[in-house]
Amino acid sequence: MHHGSCLCGGVKYEISGELSGALNCHCSMCRKAHGAAFRSRASVNASDFKWVQGEELVTYFDSSPGNHRGFCRVCGSPLLSRFDQNPSVFGLPLGALDDDPKLKPMLHAFVGSKAPWHDITDNLPQFQELPK
Ligand SMILES: [Zn+2]
Ligand SMILES: [Zn+2]
Repeated sequence: MHHGSCLCGGVKYEISGELSGALNCHCSMCRKAHGAAFRSRASVNASDFKWVQGEELVTYFDSSPGNHRGFCRVCGSPLLSRFDQNPSVFGLPLGALDDDPKLKPMLHAFVGSKAPWHDITDNLPQFQELPK
C-alpha cells in the first residue's frame, strides 16, 4: 500500500497495487505544471487508486485534449493525471507520495524540451520524446 497527499494536507490518496513505468519527463508542460526542471512520474492502475480525503478539492486542467492533470485547488500540488485514451491507467507524480514507492525513474523523456538551466548528470537513458 502506498500513500500520498498534497502540500496543504487537504487531499490524501492510497494505492493498493504497485507502480510502474517511472520516468522523468522534461516536456514544457510538465515543467510548467510542476514549476521544476522535470516531472518524475509513474503509472498506476486506476483500479488500485483511491482518494481517501479531499477528492472534492482535486481540480483538473486539460493540458492537451484528453490529458487531464489533477491538482489540489487549495495548494496547487499536482496529484494525478487521467487520460481519455487510456482510462484504466493514471499518471502519478512521485513528489506527492508520502512513502517509498520502491521504484525509481529509469529514463529521461522529452529531453528535446529540457530546460536550458538544468543539466542531466546521471547515466539514465535519454529520449527526445517518449520511448515506444
Ligand atoms: Zn492541498
Ligand atoms: Zn511531460
